Amino acid sequence: QHRADPNRLRRDFPILSSRVHGKPLIYLDNAATTQKPRSVIDAISNYYKRSNANVHRAAHALSADATLAFEQVRQELADWIGAAHQNEIVWTRGTTEAINLVAYSYLKPRLKPGSRVLLMESAHHANIVPWQQIAREAGAVIDVLPCATGEIDLKLFGELLGRGPAIAAISHVSNALGSIYPIKAMCRMAREAQVPVLVDGAQGLPHTDIDVGDIGCDFYAFSGHKLFGPSGIGALWAREAILEQMPPWQSGGEMIEQVSFDETRFAGLPFRFEAGTPDIAGVIGLGAAIRYLRESDRKALEQHEQKLLSHALECCGQVKGFRSLAAGPEQAALISFLLEGQHPQDVGLWLDRQGIAVRAGHHCAMPLMSALGIPGSIRASFAFYNTLDEAEALASGLQQLIDQSRTQVSAPAGSEIAQ
Ligand code: PMP
Repeated sequence: QHRADPNRLRRDFPILSSRVHGKPLIYLDNAATTQKPRSVIDAISNYYKRSNANVHRAAHALSADATLAFEQVRQELADWIGAAHQNEIVWTRGTTEAINLVAYSYLKPRLKPGSRVLLMESAHHANIVPWQQIAREAGAVIDVLPCATGEIDLKLFGELLGRGPAIAAISHVSNALGSIYPIKAMCRMAREAQVPVLVDGAQGLPHTDIDVGDIGCDFYAFSGHKLFGPSGIGALWAREAILEQMPPWQSGGEMIEQVSFDETRFAGLPFRFEAGTPDIAGVIGLGAAIRYLRESDRKALEQHEQKLLSHALECCGQVKGFRSLAAGPEQAALISFLLEGQHPQDVGLWLDRQGIAVRAGHHCAMPLMSALGIPGSIRASFAFYNTLDEAEALASGLQQLIDQSRTQVSAPAGSEIAQ
């Protein structure tokens, strides 16, 4: 079937046939951002060519069309992730802004001195810093669930929930380790402890379909650019009953019902949280990405990604000095690793010369890197359009680096004259 064949789907992504440093591009930096299928690129371009207008002010036909297309994506996204209602979808710039929205609108008014916030050790900075900012202001305390090994100790999680945090902010999938966390079990425990849960889905939704009702969380945040859609757009899903209680966090046009100099009455959900002209083209592009994913056989693509992961681990495992940091029981198609005697940055640069795009560094997870006692790692992150050949090319790129360093080290004395 066409929609399940990664080699055919690959042709939908124009950038994947480019060359870098004279070599075919092997794009293994999908956790940073994913590439876009032609349908997404075309949707954005067609929107600007044919339908560009501001939304929600339909005094003319173009605006009515733009509004319809814009709101239709909200409905499609709601259906796709199992939201009860389209009002539960708030457009944001991405995961970071979605988490900030919850931190400032939901949590901040609830924090008192001594309140607690429960975070994960492997969290992306986007799921640490906003909470830390408001916790500091309120005199609240942050508890951290250790998970540097990739594994979650649910008993310990239960104990931390027992301290009564005002929120637990957890990750679906770690961007630095690739660990897939047992979010369903964690949400069930949190519900029993009456602790609201935010799930950072930035690395979850790109790999698997979700149903927010089934997960059992209260908030789910994600970014369009990691989901084969455009950058600058993402969403927060939240239960309607919770959103109803939340005050606006940014204000201006588009989010009001009535304004006078004495008072402003705010619009209903979800517009109350969407001040200003939204990223209309971004939403249209994201809609095309969602349609693309809905039309593909995601179960088959997931299996392909798992094959990529095991093949990459097997091939790279044969390279002397390769050490994978991945240790969780369930892994997304992402390998975070070290190469003995090599600085991660140097490995990244070397691979780049071979046309292989990876990321080297702390991956916006500095507390995790501290817990692991390393400054950073090399990360190769796969998407469904990557091939087994590309996984092998990664391993041979690493092998060549090792071979080359060995010949340099073992070069006869006096050879430095030639350097
Ligand atoms: N959380 C995780 C797990 C991520 O991987 C990222 C992006 N690297 C973010 C949050 C932040 O996403 P964005 O920069 O798109 O807001």
